[in-house]
Amino acid sequence: MNAEIIAVGSELLTPDRVDTNSLYLTQQLNTLGVEVRRKSVVGDDRELLAEEVKFALQRSEILVLSGGLGPTEDDVTRDAVADALGRALVFSPALLDALTGRFAKLNRKMAENNRRQTYLVEGAEALPNARGTAPGQWLNANGRAVMLLPGPPHEMKAIFEEDCLPRLTRMLPPQVIRTRFLRVAGMGESDLDQLISPIYKPYTNPVTTILAGAGDIQVHLRARGGTTAEAEALLEEIAPRIEERLGDRIYSRDGSSLETVVGHMLRKRGATVSVAESCTGGLLGQRITNVAGSSAYFVGGFLAYTDRLKVNLLGVEAGILALHTSVSEEAAKAMAAGARARTGSTYAISVTGEAGPESATGVPVGTVIVGMAGPEGDPHAERYTLFGDRNGIRARAAQWALDYFRRRI
Ligand code: AMP
Ligand code: MG
Repeated sequence: MNAEIIAVGSELLTPDRVDTNSLYLTQQLNTLGVEVRRKSVVGDDRELLAEEVKFALQRSEILVLSGGLGPTEDDVTRDAVADALGRALVFSPALLDALTGRFAKLNRKMAENNRRQTYLVEGAEALPNARGTAPGQWLNANGRAVMLLPGPPHEMKAIFEEDCLPRLTRMLPPQVIRTRFLRVAGMGESDLDQLISPIYKPYTNPVTTILAGAGDIQVHLRARGGTTAEAEALLEEIAPRIEERLGDRIYSRDGSSLETVVGHMLRKRGATVSVAESCTGGLLGQRITNVAGSSAYFVGGFLAYTDRLKVNLLGVEAGILALHTSVSEEAAKAMAAGARARTGSTYAISVTGEAGPESATGVPVGTVIVGMAGPEGDPHAERYTLFGDRNGIRARAAQWALDYFRRRI
């Protein structure tokens, strides 16, 4: 079944407020196996809203509205829904009692305005609101389910969970959703899509979504079936093929972050790590220390931005920098070796590169070298060309460095 969400409120059309309710509602509806096919934001305008409701009901079986149930003149959701359905608003003595009682309990006098909140769209059931004055409403219209929920997120959530979820569950066919969640590093979004889209494109169930940010890609697979076995079987049709295609680019299957995965690996080995950073300016250390308990394996690091500090702090030979520049495999290896020697850590990771916008060494902006030193063999390094503006390159450099390390220990 398909759903549609309308967020009501003129404040949501200003630069200062965003509609977060629909994110929560989408997540809840998805869990029930309902796809949200469309959402919209409409200001406090009765005519526009009524029009939107009419269109929504032509397209979708489920319509959720949030906002516009307050006591003031600008709260028009009740009126607009009634207009759209050609129904009247009906006064509810029970709602008035409840509201009067609520004000009495708080020792406050009810304003005349609040009476607006005691009207229901003809045929609607009231959904009690323990946290505010605006009750929600549930109604059926030509086989469509329509929910009117208050805007304040905590009120909206409570009413949705207490009153809408059970009603929706009853009306929906039993449906099980099974998901797979892969996190991938070390490649760009379009490269990844080229690799796996031939596998998932032919399928609408499972639904595959790809989310990407600074070198961190998440692949979500969501299968719907009448039973767990059916949903699992649908996933099994494509998930193993995607996993095989991506291979060791996948760093987690349970949502863990890259730094968490790296932390686990170090703990398992009883090993420690240090960092020698240039272009990332501390981002790599920051990533590693994002993880609570990272002091068990992270010893610390060096922020050696200038050549002089690379020599003085890390013991990089000046001749290497003169010959190869600081953005070179040779420099990265020497930085990692220096960090490892000077901290006594099991491993060391180094990053050096040109984040732009100008290049100090002459190598193209976006060039990043990641180095690593450890107990086995000589220090090694790899050169990458990363996209982005200065911050994008720096964020990717830290990501690539962590991933290089993950794939080599
Ligand atoms: P209302 O039911 O229109 O009186 O909503 C009251 C308050 O709820 C607004 O001032 C917002 O702070 C909040 N609100 C309304 N709609 C949303 C939304 N879609 N997402 C997040 N907050 C909202
Ligand atoms: Mg409002």
